Amino acid sequence: MRNDKNNNSPVMADIQSIDADHHLHPFTNTGALNKKGARVITKGQGVYIWDSEGNKILDGMAGLWCVNMGYGRKELVEAATHQMTELPFYNTFFQTTHSPAAELAKEIASVTPGDLNRIFFANSGSEAIDTIIRMVRHYWAIQGKPYKNILISRENAYHGSTLGGTSLGGMSGMHKQGAPLLPNIERIRQPYWYGEAGDMTEEEFGIACAKALEDKILAVGPDNVAAFVGEPIQGAGGVIVPPANYWAEIQKICTKYDILLAADEVICGFGRTGSWFGSETLGIKPDIISMAKGLSSGYLPIAAVAVGNRIANALIEHDEDFYHGFTYSGHPVAAAVAIANIRLMKQENIVEYVAKDIGPYFQKKLRETLADHPLVGHIEGVGLLVGIALVKDKATKELFPDNVDIGMICRDHCFDNGLIMRAVGSRMVASPPLIISHAEVDELCEKARLCFDLTLKSVS
Ligand SMILES: *Cc1c(COP(=O)(O)O)cnc(C)c1O
Repeated sequence: MRNDKNNNSPVMADIQSIDADHHLHPFTNTGALNKKGARVITKGQGVYIWDSEGNKILDGMAGLWCVNMGYGRKELVEAATHQMTELPFYNTFFQTTHSPAAELAKEIASVTPGDLNRIFFANSGSEAIDTIIRMVRHYWAIQGKPYKNILISRENAYHGSTLGGTSLGGMSGMHKQGAPLLPNIERIRQPYWYGEAGDMTEEEFGIACAKALEDKILAVGPDNVAAFVGEPIQGAGGVIVPPANYWAEIQKICTKYDILLAADEVICGFGRTGSWFGSETLGIKPDIISMAKGLSSGYLPIAAVAVGNRIANALIEHDEDFYHGFTYSGHPVAAAVAIANIRLMKQENIVEYVAKDIGPYFQKKLRETLADHPLVGHIEGVGLLVGIALVKDKATKELFPDNVDIGMICRDHCFDNGLIMRAVGSRMVASPPLIISHAEVDELCEKARLCFDLTLKSVS
């Protein structure tokens, strides 16, 4: 269907064919894509994007979990223009700094929880994760414990796509490609209550999943474990909210065995869950966190690692360079945009809006509109983050057979009806811009209902 339309639209056809000739897409079967042609996105405003056929689409994913303050924010454009003119680049390697890097570090420290007040810059979530891997291992090495270098993460976690991120993450499809992975990384089960708890209550399951960490620590030896790393709420794994007692148990175990706790805040950071960071919403006190996506609302690539006193002081007191960094660490233009983004978030009280107003409204409206749908097994989410399990049988939680890609079918109906939701296996996920209005939430939910109906028809 899409190809018929393309034939009437020479501009889009041109871009599609150039794209097919030269562009290798990330996380894509490029051969299959080239046969149908990529959708060409042309502009964005607020929570909407437009494609080259003029379709207006409600972006229920905020780009890729990142355009938190919405499209078309002049404040961010002006910050970039000004900084480009003033000083488009200078490095921060060789005893130099500049005001955007220094001020952004301060601005980030003003919103991070606890004592996470020292900031290391990177350009992507994956680089931030690689930074955490190297930094926590280095931390233990300078404590005289170079053997304390195993990182523990979870099945179905997403920590990015560099070799470090892929190895630390728990995506089995990714592990098969470009192997071998990094050594000294271990994984435990994910706290996916709806899908994997059997007859256990949420509380029992929370304990069991945390116990898996203790078992793993004891199996490899507490003296060999550097850190546990987890997303407060798993994002790309399908938006999985852990049982309420889970993180407190994890925290206790990390303390008991003197293991650092790292929170990957790349999605949960910057207001997504109704706090500045997901760690606050979930009651986690991490030693180190990564952030990216919402830091600049996706307007320019920038990421950071915020470090608490324990690690920061060790690095600062250790009389040797930390041989790690990126040419564009603290890039002035990206940093200027991130500063403007955080200030805009503060001015508009956006975190409070998510916590007290639009977040609860979104969660309630979704359940009112979708919970009774025959395909919907379970809805879980916090703030402006939601995961919806699609099932063949609500009562038994039976999934569709492997040859029915229910998520893809649903995602395609969404796209064709002016809504972007993402499919993660048989789960549908949404993560709209934080500036979304009540009327736009209503529209999102109504469109989702229609698309779930169409999906049901497609498989009946
Ligand atoms: C997106 C993501 C990353 C990777 O970020 P990139 O900017 O794509 O490298 C890492 N961790 C989490 C939790 C993410 O969602």
